Amino acid sequence: MSAPDRGKLLRAPLFHTPRNPFLQDHALESHWDGGLLIRDGRIAASGDFETIRTANPTATITDLRGGFLLPGLVDTHIHFPQLRVLGGLGRTLLDWLEECALPEEARMADESYARQIAQRFVHALASHGTTTALVFGAHFAAATAALFEEGAKSGLRIVSGIVLSDRQLRPELHQTPESAYRDSNDLIRCFHARGRLLYAVTPRFALSTSEAMLEVCQTLIREHPGLRFQTHLNENTREIAEVARLFPWAPDYLAVYERFGLGGRGAVMAHNVHPTPSEIERLAASGTAVAHCPCSNAALGSGLFSLKRHVKAGVRIALGTDVGGGTGFGMLKEALQAYLLQRIAPDGALLDAGQMLYLATRAGAEALDLDHEIGDFQPGKAADIVYIKSPADAPLSAVLERAENPEQALAAIFTLAGAESIREVRVEGAIVHK
Ligand SMILES: [Zn+2]
Repeated sequence: MSAPDRGKLLRAPLFHTPRNPFLQDHALESHWDGGLLIRDGRIAASGDFETIRTANPTATITDLRGGFLLPGLVDTHIHFPQLRVLGGLGRTLLDWLEECALPEEARMADESYARQIAQRFVHALASHGTTTALVFGAHFAAATAALFEEGAKSGLRIVSGIVLSDRQLRPELHQTPESAYRDSNDLIRCFHARGRLLYAVTPRFALSTSEAMLEVCQTLIREHPGLRFQTHLNENTREIAEVARLFPWAPDYLAVYERFGLGGRGAVMAHNVHPTPSEIERLAASGTAVAHCPCSNAALGSGLFSLKRHVKAGVRIALGTDVGGGTGFGMLKEALQAYLLQRIAPDGALLDAGQMLYLATRAGAEALDLDHEIGDFQPGKAADIVYIKSPADAPLSAVLERAENPEQALAAIFTLAGAESIREVRVEGAIVHK
């Protein structure tokens, strides 16, 4: 038997949101001289350094002062086959799909090409501090398997699935409902709940899925308890009009998914930029989460997300980078973009640093139904940690030297920290990026 783990005590200012700051005051917890005790890959204690050291005199201390500790970032909407289409500016959703995204997605038919992209993709997640991601796989089983395999090697938490479509895209991206069912089942058997991997049933969007394909999704979810679900919803007005034409029986976009039982806790629908009041109410009632992707919404001109209406109705919201419709892998930048767009939206909310941190961490854990495991530094949770330290000559360092309180420092981190400031990333206490 191995010796008991006496614990590793990290010393640095730390921030986390063990509660929802949209619902409760003082949800942001910060400790200027913070301590984080890790034992057997879990958070054993978090809070004031001296208090934790006194209670755990045998723990090994690592002094990380000069930097900051945050919970691992959680990206709830991102497409692995779109890494190489980042930067395709100047189009709106449907043209961008046809001209930029779908040609590259078709290249994923080549398994060795897909594997190269998967390797770069998981590296980019880790190097930006993302420890958990809900990822659209490829339209091909082998490419999606490659993502799961590279995800497992990386140590990150990857929730993903083969993307299902049987119309409206390019023919080479279409499956039949029968092949979709077979491939999904094979992937679920190989990867669901293996290590840190989870499987998510992933119809691309109502526009590209027939009723028979949505029925396949429903069947998969019924047959395999614990699967997650992801798709797109109400992103673009032309898309919404087209969905209305294809499903004349549906009173709105969400109703298409609801007809097939697709939604509820552990389901994440991206965007919802143009919801009806009824859709917002039904999302709240079912516990379906919305992945808000402000960089993508601006880059594709999709529109301004009504964060206030969602929060007021009680819809779960989290953040997604939406690579490649978005502008990169940085979840800190995504939270800043949410702040910026809310500042200019007609009914915008004024986000504070605690709310931005919550949206980039715990909110994602809640959306994925993983908040018992990750999302903040409460004792018992997995030690998924991002260590942020600005390069000495960067403007962020100059700002932080003068920060008068933790909240000011956190706001500066969201404003100025890029991948160059992500120094160390841990999942369950083990370093996955340095
Ligand atoms: Zn997307």
